[in-house]
Amino acid sequence: MRIDVLTLFPEMLEGPLKASLLGKAVADGLLTVALTQIRDFATDRHRTVDDAPYGGGAGMVMKCEPLFAAVESLKGRNSLERVILLSPRGRRLDQTLVRELAGCPDLVLICARYEGVDERVSQTLVTDEISIGDYVLSGGELPALVLIEAISRMIPGVVGDWESVATDSFYEGRLGAPQYTRPQEFRGMEVPQVLRDGNHAAIRRWKRKEALRATLARRPDLLKDLDKEEKNLLAEIERETPMPERENTS
Ligand code: SAM
Repeated sequence: MRIDVLTLFPEMLEGPLKASLLGKAVADGLLTVALTQIRDFATDRHRTVDDAPYGGGAGMVMKCEPLFAAVESLKGRNSLERVILLSPRGRRLDQTLVRELAGCPDLVLICARYEGVDERVSQTLVTDEISIGDYVLSGGELPALVLIEAISRMIPGVVGDWESVATDSFYEGRLGAPQYTRPQEFRGMEVPQVLRDGNHAAIRRWKRKEALRATLARRPDLLKDLDKEEKNLLAEIERETPMPERENTS
């Protein structure tokens, strides 16, 4: 998979693209991330990429010309089928969207700065606008890294053991189950017996039940399309939950 990132601050992405699993994915050729400096496509001698907003208002707006030229320069290297603007006004990123984008052969990500981009960029140059949450950062570089790292985990071979991806929160539309490692007892807190008994069927059922318990307590909005086992497990959880807590989650 290839991802072209258009940015005024390529140095913000360079370090993270070399580190940890993402760095390995790039080094192993499972993912190509190419950084393009938007300023290289400015046409004046000051390399201007922004200008004052029509109608007045605070801040500056990113100009059309450098952004259109930067995207068009990718022709032949990128299909340009998905040109994504990182924007707080965009569709909120979730695992469903991450999986969809991971299925694309290539993507273009545009990281804006200042007050954002000229509306004509949104209207005609980009195919998608994506937000990483309901808050505002100073630029699209960190959101682009969030998106790239989330996508990279969906590429076979990036995470060594696929089970660790498939049991992550949201992969199956639920939060992940609690996890424990050694020591068996820490400050009086014991690792649940079932995880130590080696009964794989019981462990699988416990993990599914505890994932449901966490989802019910923290993100009940995710509990859709329950299968038969999940319905039984939820009924068990409700029977085990004291009444006042049950009222809080409803
Ligand atoms: N004036 C813009 C608004 O109200 O929507 C905010 C501009 S913000 C200061 C500058 C840039 O940072 C945005 O254009 C976008 O590229 C990026 N950005 C900021 N917050 C973001 C978020 N939550 N998700 C994705 N991109 C974001």
